[in-house]
Amino acid sequence: MGNMYPSTKTWGIFTGCSFSCEYCKPSFQRQVRRVARKIKCLDCYNYYPHAHPERRFRIPSAENVFVAGTGDISFCEPGYVWGCIFWAIENHRPRKPKTYLFQSKAPSCFKQYLPWFKKHQDKVILLTTLETNRDKGYGLISKAPPPSVRFLDFYALDYPRKVLTIEPVMDFDHEQMVHMVLDLKEQGSLLYVWFGYDSKNCGLPEPSVEKAQRLVDALKGYGVEVRGKTLRGVKV
Ligand code: SF4
Repeated sequence: MGNMYPSTKTWGIFTGCSFSCEYCKPSFQRQVRRVARKIKCLDCYNYYPHAHPERRFRIPSAENVFVAGTGDISFCEPGYVWGCIFWAIENHRPRKPKTYLFQSKAPSCFKQYLPWFKKHQDKVILLTTLETNRDKGYGLISKAPPPSVRFLDFYALDYPRKVLTIEPVMDFDHEQMVHMVLDLKEQGSLLYVWFGYDSKNCGLPEPSVEKAQRLVDALKGYGVEVRGKTLRGVKV
């Protein structure tokens, strides 16, 4: 996820994930494996969830920092999150204000950390990915909680600064997808939506450009800010 979004860098304070998303193999896993050879870390090589506490003083200088962006923080021991990750952020003295992005495909894991997130909410955004609204067949793509569960868990988080990532987009049901996004907007928690296709062409079941455009247009029509990446002609 290193340079995935503008002005954003990943902080590999925790790495790896067992959700095994199909599209992760040529992207994050390949990226981590390259580093693994240099630092001789077998857990990185195997993308096994594990901590890198020696990186606690190496928070990237970027304006936006994806915390554990090459992995899923839901696999991280809470003691490590509190004692190392939060500690490092609290003790970091950047020259310019930073935003810390915490993203998980199991967003219920964030519930236990809400007191800390709220205390630092001026610099923390919570994110989850919703490639589709469809649960059926999702298990062939990923072992992460199905989209409907993920959405409800994300929605249930009592936190005012959320971002939804519809990327890499998979085929969806227009009305349901729009409703999910609008529920977050009406909750008052949604800052914006990332939208994009699979940049690695992993053979995901994808919507046509026309269908994707219809979704983007509908969201924008309801006042949702949509930011784009790997758009294949879709206009955001
Ligand atoms: S949840 Fe994220 S880190 Fe985990 S396998 Fe999927 S894409 Fe990779």
